[in-house]
Amino acid sequence: MSRLNETHDASLRSWVDSANADGADFPIQNLPFGVFRRRGTNESWRGGVAIGDRVLDLGAAQAAGVFSGDAAAAAVQAAKPLLNEFMSMGPRYWSALRLALSRALRDGAAAQARLAACLLPQADAEFSVPARIGDYTDMYASIYHATNIGRLFRPDNPLLPNFQWVPIGYHGRASSIGVSGQQFHRPHGQIMPPGAQAPVFEPCRRLDYELEIGIWVGVGNAQGESIALDEVDAHVFGLALFNDWSARDIQSWEYQPLGPFLSKNFASTISPWIVTMEALEPYRVAWDRPKDHPQPLAYLESDDNRARGGVDMRIESWIETARMRAAGAAPVRLSHSTFAHSYWSVGQMVAHHTGGGCNLNPGDLLASGTQSGPDPSEAAALIEITAGGKNPVDLGNGESRTFLEDGDAVILRGWCERSGYARIGFGECRGVVLPART
Ligand code: MN
Repeated sequence: MSRLNETHDASLRSWVDSANADGADFPIQNLPFGVFRRRGTNESWRGGVAIGDRVLDLGAAQAAGVFSGDAAAAAVQAAKPLLNEFMSMGPRYWSALRLALSRALRDGAAAQARLAACLLPQADAEFSVPARIGDYTDMYASIYHATNIGRLFRPDNPLLPNFQWVPIGYHGRASSIGVSGQQFHRPHGQIMPPGAQAPVFEPCRRLDYELEIGIWVGVGNAQGESIALDEVDAHVFGLALFNDWSARDIQSWEYQPLGPFLSKNFASTISPWIVTMEALEPYRVAWDRPKDHPQPLAYLESDDNRARGGVDMRIESWIETARMRAAGAAPVRLSHSTFAHSYWSVGQMVAHHTGGGCNLNPGDLLASGTQSGPDPSEAAALIEITAGGKNPVDLGNGESRTFLEDGDAVILRGWCERSGYARIGFGECRGVVLPART
């Protein structure tokens, strides 16, 4: 059964001209959801859809009478200041609204005259975290990251034996997740200096980023019930870019035996737009496990997961130092990889998370863990790029970095492309490091 439909047709063009530009992140085949208001106002936050360099105000479009039936019911919820209720409605409503938007935004659509007044330039908008995140779980799904970082923390035993059997995760902090543009102070925490007898409580000196995929839960599950691997598509709403800022010197002292604490809970940044799983369908790829590795237990194994469990989402991390910003210089790319390298699929992460009866709720967030690939150029955190701070990375403007300095911005970007289909993008996930509070 093909999950592709008329909304994926690469030949579709929009009457919003900027959506048709080469390399645009938001062509009519994308239609991601977010929450916005006019920049610098006290207007209420409201749901919107990205099209080209504009955002379509869903409440205004609904009031203009553009939608009917399931699409209208979905638009009422998707227009709210938080998308949780829309996300809880499930694929029938998500798809109905996507189809209605695709038809209304196409070249020649009768709705053009009514919708043109419902568009705002994204440059004139500000965005918020698009849903109330009840719970956030950070996974650890890249074997390349787990091996690289494990080698630094435990040279004799880099990959712990459970990694190839369990989609590893820990419960993170939802309160400090902010939307792209977030600025946060360098965190304090306990650090054990080399050779010292006692730790100090000081600002982090080894501040890092982690390039991850955010996985937004749509339809939840009842406590005590699990989500079977092949049912996950009916529960996951979409994907975004996610930066799990990490204080490595705090982490290395505190992480055993129960995992990260202050090293991870001070800030995380998510991109404003949620690209739906339906939009991502053309870029699904096979999920594979090398024959000489342990094969998944039965609850993490299915033909459908083997056939289309992966997502070929190209991901990049960039740095913009304060000096670059002052000079008007472009950011410098630090890494590039694809989510298709992930050792565990989105389906396996969700099936395992709920496998013991844990209930997920609409708007809950999973992150994929740092998505490093096999090549050194695919290392998705500075601790890997610089081998634990031993090999500084040259930024080409006279600056170099081992870890992040005050004033540094990290920018994550992502997109999908495949021959015969449109290129769709995720926009940007940007965060800036401020000096530690004194
Ligand atoms: Mn992480």
